[in-house]
Amino acid sequence: MTRSGVRTTVKVRVKAEVITTRKRKRLEQITGRDTRIIKQYLKVIYHNEEQIAITKKGKKKVSKAKLDHLTLTTCKMNKLPNRPTVRHDFKKSFPRCSQNEFQECRENAVAIYHSQQANNSAPAKDPTLKKIPRTQLSHAKRFILTCSPSNSIARWWVGIRDSFDTKKNNTHKHEKLWLPLACSPYHEHNLNQGKLQALEVLCYPKKKEWWVHFILLHVPDKYSSSRPPAVLGIDLGINKRAVSALLTPKGAINRHEIRFWSDKTRKKLLKETERKIAKLQKISAKHSLNVNKRDSLLHQLKSLRKRQRTEHQLTDHTYVNKLVKYILSVGKRYDLYVVVGFPLHIRKSHYRGNLYPHSRKNVHKWNYRRVVELLKFKLSLQGWEEHRILAIGESGTSSYCSRCGSYHTIRPNQPTFICHTCGYNLNADLNGAKNIAKRLIKYVLQPKYNSIKDQVSGKFFPLISFRVFPVLSQWLQTKQSHLLTPGAGVRA
Ligand SMILES: [Zn+2]
Repeated sequence: MTRSGVRTTVKVRVKAEVITTRKRKRLEQITGRDTRIIKQYLKVIYHNEEQIAITKKGKKKVSKAKLDHLTLTTCKMNKLPNRPTVRHDFKKSFPRCSQNEFQECRENAVAIYHSQQANNSAPAKDPTLKKIPRTQLSHAKRFILTCSPSNSIARWWVGIRDSFDTKKNNTHKHEKLWLPLACSPYHEHNLNQGKLQALEVLCYPKKKEWWVHFILLHVPDKYSSSRPPAVLGIDLGINKRAVSALLTPKGAINRHEIRFWSDKTRKKLLKETERKIAKLQKISAKHSLNVNKRDSLLHQLKSLRKRQRTEHQLTDHTYVNKLVKYILSVGKRYDLYVVVGFPLHIRKSHYRGNLYPHSRKNVHKWNYRRVVELLKFKLSLQGWEEHRILAIGESGTSSYCSRCGSYHTIRPNQPTFICHTCGYNLNADLNGAKNIAKRLIKYVLQPKYNSIKDQVSGKFFPLISFRVFPVLSQWLQTKQSHLLTPGAGVRA
């Protein structure tokens, strides 16, 4: 996510089966040449690293001007030579490539170099195999996306301007390369969501497919309000997918603002696939000698696992969509901050041999990170600022009372929570959700540090972003505040 908006990609397949051989050849030539130029740029960068790269805040950054000084010749307007010779003359090596295309390739190469520096990875060793796409920008009118409903071949077409046909010393405007797209209503809807910024043409030689990736920018409306602030605490769970509680300035929790998000059909669906997989695994272990039968079994297993993955993703999407809908409806009434309890290190603590094999199995299957990331992404598309949806560590939030802060509590069974100090009796996950929301308020109003860390993105947000929080201070007042220190009561 950038400061100005969110970028998304819409991937559309090119109808390669209907385009002419000449067009296909040209497309192959263009993508091949782009790859060669980008790789050449990368070579020059690595070869002249000391001269080009500047270290800023411990990161190596390439100076694009210095890179141009090494690769491109220039002439002044009065035709006097300004930079007649350079060490690596790209115009000589690629005479039919235009200035714009060099620039786009340079941007790609620099981006690849920066990402390699960030990951501390070395440059790829076999450079011949993979094609690297060039990002073509729309602001220079490098391409056009049009819809022609009456066309019998394809409804959507993309026209790419490319200098490949330009003859040497005889520049002429050549026709655009028009590609028919296999655009479904889903793609159309997504393409209309944002502003078209750039595209990449990708080739998958194994499948003999071409894909166009459109890069869109979503600029959200500024979120400003005179509404009272509120914090929505969400406690993620395995059996119940989530519990949410809303803390408002009124000081008492509203019964109507408590939500339990469970999904019974999902559980049934996933269990069924899981059972099938287990059955096949058992059979395949028996038939270890019979090669033919084993192969077919493995093939079945593979497709089943693929189905399982899709089921997981689909159910996650529908459930997060519901959550987003609820959050948006609450956001209309309140200046809302959402905080999700993130179970840090939970997988580490559920190691093999810690006596809880059943819960270990469940914990390792639990996809909490994907849910939080999806939630963040979908809210950001709706114009939510990043600091309004935070993931903070939830450790310990289920073991103390959300009303009085006492640790003298008991959980007779998984869903029930009873406080011996104040007699509070409620759902344990709801208690957790309340404590998570309170934890954020505590971070802001009784700060130890001057920023709050988001555990998913790793970003830090200054406390100034939460300047409306003092109204919520009553949530931190407890009658028996001396019990807030851990160890004061008996830990259940
Ligand atoms: Zn209590």
